[in-house]
Amino acid sequence: MTEKGGKTAIMNENSSAAEPNQPQRYSPAEIEPKWQAVWDADASLYAAEGHDSGKPKYYCLEMLPYPSGALHMGHVRNYAIGDALARHMWMRGYNVLHPMGWDAFGLPAENAALKNGVPPREWTFRNIEAMKKQFRRLGMAFDWSNEVTTCLPDYYRWNQWFFLKMFERGLAYRKKSKVNWCPDCQTVLANEQVIGGRCWRHEDTVVELRDLTQWFLRITKYADELLEGLDKLEGWPEKVRTMQRNWIGRSEGALVDFSVDGSAETVTVFTTRVDTIFGATSVQLAPEHAVAKAFALEDETLRGKIEGLLVEQQKARESDALGAIEKHGVNTGRFAVNPFNGERVPIWVANYILADYGTGAIMSVPAHDERDFEFAQKYGLPVRRVIAAADAEAPVLPYTAEEDGVLVASGEWSGLECAAAQEKMAAFAKANEFGTPTVTYRLKDWGVSRQRYWGTPIPMVYCDKCSPDEPMPVAESELPILLPEQIDITQTNGSPLGRVAEFVNTTCPKCGGKARRETDTMDTFVDSSWYFYRYTDAKNAKAPFDSDKANYWFPIDQYIGGVEHAILHLIYSRFWTKVMRDLGMVKNDEPAGRLFTQGMVIKDGAKMSKSKGNVVSPDEMIERYGADATRMYALFAAPPDRDLEWQEEGVAGISRFLSRVYRLVMKYKDVSAAKAGATNFSSDEGRLLLRKLHQTVAKITDDFSGRWHFNTSIASIMILVNEISAQEAAIDAGKIADNVVSQVFCFLTLLLAPFAPFLAAELWEQAEYAGDPFRITWPVYDPDLAREDEVEIPVQVNGKLVNVVKVPAGSGEAVVKAAAIADEKVKARVEGKTVVKVVVVPGKLVNLVVK
Ligand SMILES: [Zn+2]
Ligand SMILES: [Zn+2]
Repeated sequence: MTEKGGKTAIMNENSSAAEPNQPQRYSPAEIEPKWQAVWDADASLYAAEGHDSGKPKYYCLEMLPYPSGALHMGHVRNYAIGDALARHMWMRGYNVLHPMGWDAFGLPAENAALKNGVPPREWTFRNIEAMKKQFRRLGMAFDWSNEVTTCLPDYYRWNQWFFLKMFERGLAYRKKSKVNWCPDCQTVLANEQVIGGRCWRHEDTVVELRDLTQWFLRITKYADELLEGLDKLEGWPEKVRTMQRNWIGRSEGALVDFSVDGSAETVTVFTTRVDTIFGATSVQLAPEHAVAKAFALEDETLRGKIEGLLVEQQKARESDALGAIEKHGVNTGRFAVNPFNGERVPIWVANYILADYGTGAIMSVPAHDERDFEFAQKYGLPVRRVIAAADAEAPVLPYTAEEDGVLVASGEWSGLECAAAQEKMAAFAKANEFGTPTVTYRLKDWGVSRQRYWGTPIPMVYCDKCSPDEPMPVAESELPILLPEQIDITQTNGSPLGRVAEFVNTTCPKCGGKARRETDTMDTFVDSSWYFYRYTDAKNAKAPFDSDKANYWFPIDQYIGGVEHAILHLIYSRFWTKVMRDLGMVKNDEPAGRLFTQGMVIKDGAKMSKSKGNVVSPDEMIERYGADATRMYALFAAPPDRDLEWQEEGVAGISRFLSRVYRLVMKYKDVSAAKAGATNFSSDEGRLLLRKLHQTVAKITDDFSGRWHFNTSIASIMILVNEISAQEAAIDAGKIADNVVSQVFCFLTLLLAPFAPFLAAELWEQAEYAGDPFRITWPVYDPDLAREDEVEIPVQVNGKLVNVVKVPAGSGEAVVKAAAIADEKVKARVEGKTVVKVVVVPGKLVNLVVK
C-alpha cells in the first residue's frame, strides 16, 4: 500500500500540472485502465492479513466460476455484489478474505477438445487467463495470492486424499446402481445432462437406464444432521432451507413384513401410516421388485404385463414425469398375509411404485391415501375405512388427516389416536419380529463415479490375484495419481482413461504384481465441496489446509451465489464440512453462516442465452460505458435477490450520473482541499445539505448490514447528488462553509467506493484527500445532523391539553391533524365519541371538539 501511495503522489503531480481551466470530462476509458494498472501492480492490495492483525475477520465469498472463457452478466452481478460487500467491510476496518478460483474440471473442456482439437488443459487455462483479465478490468478486489484452480494436481491430490480417508471410514464404497446411459456417447450422463429423456448432446437419442458398479459417498450417514442443521442456519434464505429439507425428505414410519401366501417369500412394505394397516386391501410391488420378478418367471403372460409396466415407468422416469404417470397395475393372482390380522390381500404390480424408493413395495389403503384411493377406484378394489374423524360424521374418503383421528375396525387397536397407534403398532411389529419402526430418506448416497477424462482420478487399484473385485486404496504417499496429459478424447466406449495403458497398468500395493487402476474420475461437485477451505491456505503442500488457518476464517461470513446451487453444491459442501470436522480438521459444523442467492440477469423477459440471441457481453458494456457504470447498473437495476431485466439505456443513465458526480467533485476539489474539520452550521443551506448527507450515510450503512437493498442505496446517492446540485448556487455564493462542502464531497466519494471503485479512486486522488479510500474508515453518520427538525404541537380535546405530538418543522395542516388524531392518548380520550370539529392553529396547537 505504501508503494501505491508513492505512485499516486507522482500521478498527482502530473495531473495538477495540466492546464487548470480546461473543463475535464468523465472518461472511464482513461480513468479505469490507469487504476487497474496501479492495483495490478500491488499484489498485497487485497490480500488478507494475518490472524494477528488485531481486526475482526470477515470471510466474504462468491461462488467460484467455471472457466468457460468469458464472464457473462450473471457473473458480473454476482461478483459486483460480493465486491461491494468486501470493499465495504475493508472500509469498516475488518480483516477481509475475498478470494477467487476456478471450478476447472468438467465436461465442457472435453467437448471443446472434441470440437476444436484443443487439449482440455490448454483450453481451460486459456479461458482462465481471459476471465482473469475481465475480472481485473471490472476492478474486482480479489486476493489472488490464494487462487485455487481445481484441475491442478496441487488441488486434486487432496480430493484423492479425502477419498482415501472416506474409504478408510466406510464413507466411500461401490455398489451397482442405475445410471443414465447415452448409447451414442457410450457413456454415463449426469441427471442434468438428460433433457426431456434425451441426451443433451444427441437430441434424438433416448437415454437408457443401465446398471453399473459405481462409487458412492455415504452422505446418508449425515442425513439427520444435515436436516437438523438447517434449523440453525438462520442466515440462509428460507427457500433454500425448504428445498434442502425436501431433498433430504425424511419420513418416519414402519417396515412391516407381509408373508407371501403359499411361499417362503415375504414382502416388506414401508409405510408412514401403520395405524391404517387394517384398511390395507392390497399389496403393491414395483415392476422390478424381486418377488414380482419371481412371479413373472412362473407365468409368461404376467411377465409380459410386468415388463409393460416397467417400460411405462422408465419412459416416465426418462421424461421426468413420474409424478404425473397414469397409474396402471396388474393383479398377480397371488396373495400376501397381513401380519396384524392374518387377512389375505391380493398382490398387485404397479407402474408408479419405484424399486429404489423405500422397499419398492407398499400396502395400499384406499380409504386413507389419495393415490391408493385413485388406484382402487380404477381397478375396483375394496375401500375400507379404519380411521374415524373426531367429529364422528362419516368423512369423505380418502380421509388422510391424522390429527383428531381415531382407529376403528382395527381389532385391539381400535379407539387409539393415530399418533399413539403408529408408535404402539410399530413396536408390536418389532416385538413379534414381523417389522420395525424406521425412518426413510429421499436423500440417496452421492454417486461420484464419472466415466470421463477431465476430472480427479479415483485413487483405487484392482489386483487380479489378490482382489479381482475388491478395490484397494493406493498409498497416501503415491498421491497425486496424475491425470495423463496426452489423451485421445472420443467420449465413446466408456472411460477414456481405460484406453491409456500407462495410466491403467500399475502394481498391486499388496503383492507387487500387475494391477489395474480405477478409471472412473470424480464428480466435479467433489472439487467445489471444500475449495473454500483451500483458500485459507492455498499453497499448502503437506495437507489440504492448516486447521488453525481454517478455524480462524470459518465459517464463511457471507456466501453469495445462484439459487440453482440450493441443492447439490450446498448440500455436498455441508456434508464435506461435517466429514472434515469428524476427521478433526475443522471445528465448524457448517461452511457458511450466511447465504445470499442473487436473481438472474434476463433480457427481453428471458434468461440470456446464445440460442435466444439475447446475450449482452460485459466487455461491450465496459467499452461503451466503463466498468464502474456496468457493475453499478447490475446493482441498481433491481433488488439483488430478484431477477434483473438488462436495459442498456439504464447503463447509459448510470454513466451520466457518474459523469455528474465527476463534474461536481472536480469543480469543488480545491474547496475540498481545505479538508474536512468540525462541521459548521454557518447557514440553513449547509445544515440541510449535511442532513441529507448523514441521512444517506445512515441508509447505506444500514443496507450493507444485511438488507442489501443496493438498488435503493444507489438511488439514495442519486438523491444526495440532486440535493448537492440544487445547492450549487449557494455553494458558489459562499453560503455554505468550506468544511461542509469538503465533508459532503469526501463522504460522497467514500459512499461510491464499493459500487464504482475506479471513479472513487480517481476523485480521491484529484481532491487530495488523505489515505487510501478503500481502507479508511467508512463514514459514520451523526444522528444529530441526520435528524429532521421537529416541532412540538400541543393537542387539546375540548380545550383541555391531552398530549404533545412531534411533527416536522413547517408541516402543513393535514400532517399536523393526522399526527394529532393518531396519538394514542388522544385516541383513548375520544374513543366512543364523535369528533365534530378539528381546529388547527399552524405551528401552535390542535384542538379536537368531540361529543
Ligand atoms: Zn449422447
Ligand atoms: Zn495383488
